[in-house]
Amino acid sequence: MRQSKLFGKTIREAPKDEVSANAIFLSRAGYIDKLIAGVYNYLPLGVKVLSKIQNIVREEMNKIDGQEIYLSALQHKELWEKTGRWQSMKEIMFQFEGRGNQEIGLGATHEEPITSMVKKRVSSYRDLPFYLYQIQDKFRNEPRAKSGLLRGREFNMKDLYSFCESQEDLNKFYDRAIKAYLTIFERCGLKAIVTEASGGDFSKEYSHEFQVLTKNGEDNIVICTKCDFAQNSEICKLKDGDECPKCKAKVKHEKSIEVGNIFKLGTKFSHDLGLKFKDKSGKEQEVIMGSYGIGPSRVMGSVAEVYHDEKGLIWPKSLSPFAIHLLLLSEDDKKKQIADKLYDDLIKQGIDILYDDREVSAGVKLNDADLIGVSLQLIIGDKTKDKVEYKIRAGNKKGEVDEKDIKKLL
Ligand code: ATP
Ligand code: MG
Repeated sequence: MRQSKLFGKTIREAPKDEVSANAIFLSRAGYIDKLIAGVYNYLPLGVKVLSKIQNIVREEMNKIDGQEIYLSALQHKELWEKTGRWQSMKEIMFQFEGRGNQEIGLGATHEEPITSMVKKRVSSYRDLPFYLYQIQDKFRNEPRAKSGLLRGREFNMKDLYSFCESQEDLNKFYDRAIKAYLTIFERCGLKAIVTEASGGDFSKEYSHEFQVLTKNGEDNIVICTKCDFAQNSEICKLKDGDECPKCKAKVKHEKSIEVGNIFKLGTKFSHDLGLKFKDKSGKEQEVIMGSYGIGPSRVMGSVAEVYHDEKGLIWPKSLSPFAIHLLLLSEDDKKKQIADKLYDDLIKQGIDILYDDREVSAGVKLNDADLIGVSLQLIIGDKTKDKVEYKIRAGNKKGEVDEKDIKKLL
């Protein structure tokens, strides 16, 4: 892609009311555009990164036998009344009147509609287990939407629901889901800590959150300085320096972002909505459910929070909107020919490349490249001879490379 054609110029100042690093850099660099608090439009660069995250999530969900579906955003009040959540989620769920005085909600999560949809197609233990997921926008009337993509009022979520005949089967799938989640975050460049948290209204058991440590996080977790003990401070009474209940080392509090959350729902929804199956002996039982959420847009914001410097974003290779950012910094025609040819050659090799061919100063190009944060920069300047100058954005490591060896840097 030629940068002269790219929609979404960089801007000098982020919107005045943006305070979080992710919102400031993503807005300035042309990934997102704020509409109102917690509501963002995605520009071409933003769509590229968000799609990469969604595809990683999709691949890992497919590997654990997830099947992709797509549920409606508009919600039928009646279903939510059956679980008591039309009332209990009133504050957070957008609810309004449709035609003919019909009350409608916007999906803040999807346990109710999926349970109701599944009910029409499950009758026997032979129909179980199965795992359905979707990647879709959710709507929540969040009270504090001040952290850019970390807390949207409209935001992207992958939600998977598991349907099993026994607690044992649920437990087995739950453990596979934990592993898949850790792989997803690792592939996105994030180190997530599996953290025990409240099971919500559904369960006396813990739910498990996936928390990424960062000083700008809204969550607070208690972690052991030695072992893998981690609990959300909402359910943990330990203070800094107290003994870890698992290994007796000291614990400490850290700020973090919740990037994923998984729950053993048990029969809460199958009971309220009547999702049953006949077991081997012909007896009717309620389906045992689980729900598993990840916010791809929050992951995008988290990566921006964790990976930036004063100049801009620093994407891990797996999420970089382009594999290479090629900068032509010379006005010499010969150098332009070299850059044009290199661009064409790399495209022919199937490499996704952004080529800064704009008629602006070298300084502007260099600053924009650092702000946009593509993982690898290639530079053709006045001094370029046989080799191409490169800069790896993470660590700003510079060097020179033969054209034939560029692929090794990817
Ligand atoms: P929080 O406690 O941060 O409000 P939650 O526990 O209500 O989140 P879940 O219902 O568990 O969130 O949603 C599953 C996942 O969806 C979260 O782990 C997070 O990645 C993402 N998510 C939830 N709320 C938001 C939001 N307002 N903006 C962006 N992502 C969100
Ligand atoms: Mg949660």
